[in-house]
Formats: sequence, structure tokens, C-alpha cells
Amino acid sequence: MGTTLDGRAIAERIKQTLRGELAKLRVSPQLRVLYFDTPTSRVYWKAQHFEAFSLGIQAGKRDAKPTDWKESSIPCSLSITPEEVERIIQWWNEDERVHGIFVHQPLPEQLDAQRISSLIDPRKDIEGIHPQNSARRFFAKARIGSCTALAVMELIESTGVNLEGKEAVVVGHSEIVGRPVSMLLLDKLATTTICHVATDQAGLLEDHVKRADVLVVAVGKPHVIKGEWIKKGAIVIDVGINVVDRRVVGDVEFEIARERAAFISPVPGGVGPVTVMMVMKNTVEAFKLQRTDK
Ligand code: NAP
Repeated sequence: MGTTLDGRAIAERIKQTLRGELAKLRVSPQLRVLYFDTPTSRVYWKAQHFEAFSLGIQAGKRDAKPTDWKESSIPCSLSITPEEVERIIQWWNEDERVHGIFVHQPLPEQLDAQRISSLIDPRKDIEGIHPQNSARRFFAKARIGSCTALAVMELIESTGVNLEGKEAVVVGHSEIVGRPVSMLLLDKLATTTICHVATDQAGLLEDHVKRADVLVVAVGKPHVIKGEWIKKGAIVIDVGINVVDRRVVGDVEFEIARERAAFISPVPGGVGPVTVMMVMKNTVEAFKLQRTDK
């Protein structure tokens, strides 16, 4: 049976390093999060607020009202207009007290993800989604990277396995997870394959998964990856978050996969806590960047 990677312990180690860095800064970094009135977004925000508060990063009130946007992270109704979102982001861009801006995804359908990504000041873009930050990632020169992708890499690095020449397979090609993870694996010289819905429709998903030394799954469909597909000795990182019968499960059939993998991340307790800590780390990175890059 493979080792279950402990995301909470990895997040705690990163937190201790961050505490040291924050102690050296004279000013507390400020983070602004725009989250939505959905159960998932609220749970994610509570975790972000908890970690920000415990590190002394100012993210505003935990239970702010939408009207508090000039001073705090805020919840938005699912019917918020693009103009309202733009006005809030513009304000946070111009407010020198604010160092990091994070807009939760998925967005309500009237909001355009690309438009929002390009509105955020690239130096305050905690999720690394501004076109400038995406381009830097393409050239392996990222200053602020995607929080989830960085969390995936932390989990992989914790195994101590050298990725050079390994077969890496990423399932899912979203802009905030699949694509940035693929770039980071490529930077480590893993031979990287990206699978998506058409791979599955072509009946080829199983074949690709079966040869993965490193498998990263970010789909959002419970148990889309069957346990018996996992290559013996593989590293399996499950990003998916799904609620089935009021239980949170990932995209991989965990119990069977664990029998075959050398290392596997659980859901919950795997990628999630590390991602939240990466939001904090990126806020500190953005703070430092704004000091040097006026
Ligand atoms: P997304 O934007 O919906 O992307 C899902 C991806 O999966 C798409 O690229 C889609 O391809 C692909 N896909 C759909 N069905 C597939 C199938 N049957 N076989 C292969 N690929 C398939 O979602 P996301 O934002 O990347 O998030 C993915 C999951 O990770 C969600 O469960 C989300 O909640 C979770 N998540 C977790 C964290 C964390 O910190 N733990 C952070 C972010 C996201 P097409 O676009 O071609 O349809």
C-alpha cells in the first residue's frame, strides 16, 4: 500500500516558513477575496480567512456584507453584474493598502473569466491568471504562480522523486489547474501529456493513465479515474473536490488506487490545505514584488 501524502502537514511546514518571513516585514500584507454565495466558495473563503487571520495577513471581515468592498474581502451574489465586479477590482487595484486580489472560480455565467483575469493588476494577481503572469509561466519565469498548481508541485516534491524523464499525465486542462500544472511538470523535464474530455470520449483516458509515473487529476467528476488504472509505484495527486452522499470525495477511486500507487494524495486533506497556504504565500510574494517593482 502506498504512502498517503499529508497535505495538512505540508501546509503547516509552509506556514512556519511564512511566519518567519512575515515577522521581518514591517507592514501586514492585505488580501482581498471576491467570493460567491455558493457553499463551495464560502467553505474556501472560510479556510482562506482562517489562515490569513492566523498569519496576520489582513483579509477583512470573515462575514462581511457586499457593501463592505472598500475595506474588506466580500461575498457577491450570483447575479452581480460585470460592471460591479470591474468597479471593485479597479478600486482594489488602485488602493495601495491592498497587495493581493483573488477572485474565486467558477464564476457565475454572466462574468467572463478572461476579462476578469486581465483586469487584475498583475502584481496583485494572487492566482497568476493575468495574461502577463500566464506568459511568464510559459517561459518558466513566473513571479506569481497558480495556487493550486503550486500546491500540486509541493505535494509531488514532498515525495523526493526526481521527475526528469518521468511520464507525467495531467487530466483536465483548465486555466487555473490543468494547464499551469502541466507547465510546471514540463519545467521539471517530465514527459507531460494533457488529457481532457475528448481524450475520454475517444476511449483513450485509461491508456494514458495506465502509463503515468505521475498522475494529476483535476476534473471535478467523482471517481472518473478507476483505481485499477493506476500504474504500480505511481505518484497520484487528486485535485478534484466532489460531494457524494454528503461526503467529500476526489476524482480518483482512492482505496483501490492506494493499493497500487507509491504515493497518493487524499481528498479531503491533500491538495486543498496546501492550496490555501499557497494563497497566503502568493500574497506575501505579491507584497514583496510591489516593494521592488514600483
Ligand atoms: P474545470 O474548469 O471544470 O475543468 C475541468 C477539466 O476536466 C476540463 O479541462 C475538462 O475538459 C476536463 N474533463 C471533464 N470531463 C472529463 C473527463 N470525463 N475526462 C477527462 N477530462 C475531463 O475545473 P477546475 O477548476 O480545473 O477544477 C477541477 C476540480 O478540482 C474541481 O473538482 C474543483 O473543485 C477542484 N479544485 C480543487 C482545488 C483544491 O485546492 N483542492 C483547487 C481548484 C479546483 P473540457 O474543458 O475539455 O471539458
